[in-house]
Parts: sequence; structure tokens; C-alpha cells
Amino acid sequence: MGHYETLQELLLKRAIVYPNSEPHGPVAGFYDYGSVGSEIKRRLEGEWRSFFLSLGDNFHEIDSCLIMPQSVFKASGHLEHFKDPAAVCGKCGTKRKADELMEEALGEKFEGLSAQELDELIKKHKLVCPKCKSKFKGIEPFTLMFPLEAGAAENKAAVYLRPETAQGPFTAFKREFRANRERLPLGLAIIGKAFRNEISPRQLTIRTREFTQAELQIFFDPKAAPEVDYKSIKKKKVLFALPGKKEKSMAIDEVKKATKMPEFMLYYLAKDWEWMEYLGLGKCLRLAQLSEEEKAFYNKYHLDLEIKMPSFDKWVEVAGFHYRTDHDLKGHQKVSGQKMLVPGKDYNPHVLELSFGVDRLVFALLDTSLKEGKEGWYFALPPRLAPFDAGVYPLVNKESLPEKARAILQTLRGDGIKVFFDGGGSIGRRYARADEIGVPFGITIDFDSLKDKSVTVRDRDTQKQDRVKISDLSGYLWKRKSV
Ligand SMILES: [Zn+2]
Repeated sequence: MGHYETLQELLLKRAIVYPNSEPHGPVAGFYDYGSVGSEIKRRLEGEWRSFFLSLGDNFHEIDSCLIMPQSVFKASGHLEHFKDPAAVCGKCGTKRKADELMEEALGEKFEGLSAQELDELIKKHKLVCPKCKSKFKGIEPFTLMFPLEAGAAENKAAVYLRPETAQGPFTAFKREFRANRERLPLGLAIIGKAFRNEISPRQLTIRTREFTQAELQIFFDPKAAPEVDYKSIKKKKVLFALPGKKEKSMAIDEVKKATKMPEFMLYYLAKDWEWMEYLGLGKCLRLAQLSEEEKAFYNKYHLDLEIKMPSFDKWVEVAGFHYRTDHDLKGHQKVSGQKMLVPGKDYNPHVLELSFGVDRLVFALLDTSLKEGKEGWYFALPPRLAPFDAGVYPLVNKESLPEKARAILQTLRGDGIKVFFDGGGSIGRRYARADEIGVPFGITIDFDSLKDKSVTVRDRDTQKQDRVKISDLSGYLWKRKSV
């Protein structure tokens, strides 16, 4: 069984991720996080929140609606532009994302090509429908937004499920700016759901129709760039791919020379990199700068953060770094008629967007940490992102060992350590079960524990066992789980 199949099996078996509404026959592109998966996701979101909100004094988190009025998306350009070219089968009507068909057939990227270019390429390379093997009849634009109606028939409003969290901060800008004493830079973050009616959702939670984003919009005065400690990051090495080039290791200062990006943006780019390292993903990460054809038309700089995923053996985008200029506020100003200017000046703040796909990050963590050990497959998750800190196991279910174990469990919970109790089966089986969901430590209470007031702590990755005094246990675990 390949890496991807093993991963898929474990995700289902251990209730990490599974299809939504399973008993009814799931709709493609919708997944639930189970008891284990949702804890990993929550922890990741918590880490993101504390990392990115601490990057600026005037950075805040907001929580805005999933449903927004049509005019928002007129202002953002989504109504007009948020469409994918779909190749339509002439016989069975199957639709497939056209650039993806090309990519699968030829192994290179085809993003950003026009419908006509894609149509010609598909004909030239004689690509056929993956379902019925017939010819494609042509390319159609496919709208990626989910339309809805709010209210009763006579006064209903056209609304949409948001396709990105970003429009929340843009529409909240004016009020937040005033409430935060009209200071720039102003950072507004959202962690929340977004919805896209993908033509071909696939690869588990890599491309879904309902997904979670963690995005930070940094509003700044383009004529007075925010002050940052550039010196502290200029020597930082990153793996960088210039448009159309192969990636190579570069210091941030070299990236500056090659891309002409301003220092304050490079600072946040380096922070993106540091955050990925913090997750333990630094070793399989690259920054890829998009070419003029590939990037969104309103982005002045557009980079992807990509992870080499073992399941697909290729680079997969997990985050984006976008300098959106004044595109957003200008658009909202125009459509709404409300001014959104830098105080005392006649231009709009610009926006730097740090955008992360939470589901893709969770997937990347699981995919890159899946290992085969002596006892079977397990997730070598960083302790701070594991679903539990430790399992608590009485060696046997007799004498007073279970009671002692439960008392330790309660003490640890009181000290803010996330633990579970498992008294079933051989101790080896219990270790293996915990390893399978990435629990970093196992605490065993044996007969000696009653005498020496100590327990055995087993490390998931090295399988080394430490003897630790019960009175020191919380401190020991806090120290070891914070890495
Ligand atoms: Zn077909």
C-alpha cells in the first residue's frame, strides 16, 4: 500500500477526517473532522492566532459572516472573474478543470491561460474525457461561488457564501480603522470557513468545496511603509523559486535583489517562513513566485508557499502571500460610495495579505509526519499540534493501579495537560493505538509507582522511557510538549 493509501486508511480508521453525511451518500468535496482531527485543527488555529496577531501592535482578529450581499462580490471582482475554465465532454457532459487536465497529461503547470489557449492545447494533445474517453466539445466558464437567497419572496436579497475570508476585513475596514484610533498599519485577521463550488474536488481535504482559511490583511500607507526589523531576517535562508525557475536556497537579502520587493514585505514573508518552520514543515517548504500570467491581475506580488507532499510527490500550495495594492478598498469604495482613505490624504491604504489554507496545513502535517515504526504506522506530529499530550495507562487492571492512574489523570488535567485514559489490552497495544493518532507521550503506572511515587514516560518517536516523579510530572510534560 502506498503512502497516500495508508494515510487515507488511518484518517478514516481513527476518525481524523471522513466524508460528510456518510450514511446519506456524501457529496464530493465535503469532509468532516472527527474527534481526533478537529483537535489537531483547533490546536493549529490557536498557534496561528498567537503567532500572527503578535506580529503587530495594531493587529486584531475579527469574526465576520459567511454570507455576504451580492454587491460585495461586485466590488471585489468575484462576480465577474471568479470562474474556472472547464473542459466539457461532448458525450457524457463531464466537466473538468481545463488547466488541471493539461497538468495531469503533460506534468507542467497551465494556470492563467485563456479559455481559447486551453481549448487549443486540449485539441492539440488530443485529451479525452477521463470518464467516457470521448472528445471534449470545448471550454466553458464555470462560476465558483455558491449563490443563495436571503428572506421571503417579495423582498429577497441575492447573497453568496463567501469564497474567501478576506472580504470581511475589507468591508469592516472603515469601522475598525476608526475604532483603533486611525492607526496604520492595521492588521485584521479571520480564521473561518469559505466556500467554492470546485469543478473537480479531490485528494481528500486538499481541494474541497467548504474549507477553512486563516488570513491576515495588513492595511498600510503605501507612501510610508511600516517599520520592521529587517536586519533580524535579512540573512534568513529560504528555498525560493523565481517565476519559471527551479528553486534554490537564498537569503532574504538575495530575494530582495532578485524580486525588488520592499523590506517590510520581505519581513512578513520571512515570518511566514518562520511560522511554517514552527509547524515542523520547514524542511519540505518552498516559496514560489508567480509569473505575470499566473498571478491574479490585482496582485503586484504573488507568491505561493508550497509543501512537497509525500502522498502526491509534488509541490502543493498551502498558503499565499499577496500584495493586493489598493484593489480591494478602491473596489468597495466605488461600489458602496463610502470613502476609505488614508487620513488627510486622497488615496486608499494598500493591503498585504497573508493567506493560509488551514485544511491543507493539517493535511501537510499529517502527510509529512506519517512514519512506519516497529509497531506499525504512526504520526510523528510536533507535540504542540498533537490531539492529546499524553495517554495515561495503568500497567494492569488490578490492585490499586487504575485508581492511582485516574488520580494522576485528574491532576494533569488540572494543570492544563490534555490526557486520556486507556486501560484496555496489552500495554504494547495501547502504545500503538496512541502512536496511530500522534500522541507524543505515554505515562505508565506500574507496581513500583506505588512505592517510589514515580511513573514511566514513553516517548513516541524514540520509544525511550524516562522515570519521572509524579510530583514533577506536569512540569516535565509542559517542558517537553512545548516543542
Ligand atoms: Zn465523457
